[in-house]
Amino acid sequence: MNKPETLIIQSDQPEKWQKILSDLITDPKDLLDYLQLDEAQRPASLMAQTQFPMKVPMPFAAKMRKADWGDPLLKQIWPATEEEIVDSRYVTDPLAEADSNPMSGLLHKYHGRVLLTAAPHCAVHCRYCFRRHFDYEENAPSRVLWQRCFDYIGADNSIEEVILSGGDPLALADKQIGWLLDELESIHHITTIRIHTRLPIVIPQRITNELIEILSLRKVKIVMVIHCNHAQELCSDSRHALNTLSSIGLILMNQSVVLKDVNDNADCLVELSRKLFSVSVLPYYLHLPDEVAGTAHFDVSRNRALNLIAQMQTRLPGYLVPKLVKEEPGQPSKTRIG
Ligand code: SF4
Repeated sequence: MNKPETLIIQSDQPEKWQKILSDLITDPKDLLDYLQLDEAQRPASLMAQTQFPMKVPMPFAAKMRKADWGDPLLKQIWPATEEEIVDSRYVTDPLAEADSNPMSGLLHKYHGRVLLTAAPHCAVHCRYCFRRHFDYEENAPSRVLWQRCFDYIGADNSIEEVILSGGDPLALADKQIGWLLDELESIHHITTIRIHTRLPIVIPQRITNELIEILSLRKVKIVMVIHCNHAQELCSDSRHALNTLSSIGLILMNQSVVLKDVNDNADCLVELSRKLFSVSVLPYYLHLPDEVAGTAHFDVSRNRALNLIAQMQTRLPGYLVPKLVKEEPGQPSKTRIG
């Protein structure tokens, strides 16, 4: 079978963010040299690297503490030997997304909204990712595929919202993002476009004037849901990027995953909520980790997570306490815990 023509619209000159994106740290040794750590203490797992290769943008590495294996950002991206643990509860498609994939590039799980896998890659590989086994090649964007998705959305009046997800949609070139937004806006029953992205956190240089122009003055509501797990991820460049996005009227929200030894303590989550709000981002969801093969070592129990939320409620106004949720296959929405 012929592979569909891949749609890539490139700028004439790569911008700074594109250079960062094309120069990711992929060799664990390079990262450890930079962080002044000795691989002999915690070797990278070859199996983990083969299954889901390490990818770290330099601006994200720059936020990690040097010479500290306990750094919460390092733990999120390090291909640890713990990923080799086999546990039958942890599977490759824990959300059964394959059942909601009526065509390549489109997931239709919930009433009123569809998700497009807008880009075939992310700027960072988060080890706990529920899509670490997702077939991005099969779902790679192409003109033919996009047209099929637009036809599907256009034929179903009940779809009001389109979610551009990942891979990371902001890893696409500006022209391609603009084209996608234009096409979706032209479908009369679409009222909202939601962008799920980790780029303002891992490569804040991505929020360029050109991108801001593309996102501004849209007919539909644009909601951006970022993914930030720890206050340490909100460096001055990320804060500037988020303030800029907020200044053009985008609704900004955050979803985090509660992860063992990364952010599973109340002080950490309270600080995250406060710092997010200081840059106009509302804490939206705190996800329990999904049971993805290779990620059992990140698990936090329901009771522990509920206890963390209870502690947050005593220290924060209600609007700064995220909803604790879990995604369960076959359910009509995310499942609220507690
Ligand atoms: S940015 Fe999101 S989709 Fe990409 S690897 Fe991380 S969690 Fe997964």
